[in-house]
Amino acid sequence: LRAIVRPMGLSLDGSHLALVSFRDETELRQVERTRADFLANASHELRTPLASLSGFIETLRGHARSDPGAQERFLTIMQAQAERMRRLIDDLMSLSRIELNEHIAPSQAVELADAVADVMDAVGPIAREKGVKLEVSGPPADAAPVTGDRDQIVQVIQNLVDNALKYSAPGGTVRVAIEAGRTAEAAAAGVRPEASRLSLLTPDHTGETYGVVRVTDQGPGIAREHLPRLTERFYRVEGQKSGERLGTGLGLAIVKHIVNRHRGGLAVESALGAGTTFTAYLPERVAAAAPAAGDRRET
Ligand code: ADP
Repeated sequence: LRAIVRPMGLSLDGSHLALVSFRDETELRQVERTRADFLANASHELRTPLASLSGFIETLRGHARSDPGAQERFLTIMQAQAERMRRLIDDLMSLSRIELNEHIAPSQAVELADAVADVMDAVGPIAREKGVKLEVSGPPADAAPVTGDRDQIVQVIQNLVDNALKYSAPGGTVRVAIEAGRTAEAAAAGVRPEASRLSLLTPDHTGETYGVVRVTDQGPGIAREHLPRLTERFYRVEGQKSGERLGTGLGLAIVKHIVNRHRGGLAVESALGAGTTFTAYLPERVAAAAPAAGDRRET
């Protein structure tokens, strides 16, 4: 609440008069600020690889001209920077696409097992190259499909598995478990006593049954104080080695947006030195829902 004081001159008896009004402008300001911060962050993140590219072009034009070894090294770095810019732009576009469609309820029947299989096909080569084992378990026999947008659900699983792989050391294992149940039961299952657990997004209707995807790695883990901020755009844990692939800091923001759009839930559980588990909860499709009509793709 902000007080706005407008002097109105002197009254008949000589005292000062003022009009004082109060306005609640925090909410509007907040939205504007978030938008401005986002633009500033996005521009900054894009400028960094761009500046590096320009620098290397200068160098290649200049003294590296006569040094084929240096040329090759610089071109490799330039390729990595260009690739990083591509990832950033892809992620920024995903985020805005999701935000634009947020008011439309996703309505396809999606089998989590199929979505997980798609992701496994995509990340298999990366895991093999890195020497990380991938294990999939589930779904239970009584699992129903979830209600959603198939591509977006694949993206949620993909981002979580990408992170798990990125922060895994060679020789580690990434486990993807497909489960079903109510969120409270699912949340209680398998929490390690030494780990911190935080709900990053509370599901809309706790009474419903959910399809659950749980992605567990044996990476470095995340300190408790970082957990609440993980889904902020561009938030990255300082000093964490993510290997050769520098992240964009947008992956988990995208995950949270998509899960939110599906009225689902998201939780993280982590212990330093022991690894991290991200769990996504997506509402199961209600069996009695009208067939076919809801299966149309959004346009
Ligand atoms: P990024 O593209 O940087 O990975 P994300 O939004 O996906 O961005 O993740 C935000 C930050 O959360 C990461 O930079 C990393 O510090 C941390 N993080 C995410 N997943 C894991 C994980 N499985 N293990 C350890 N740290 C993680």
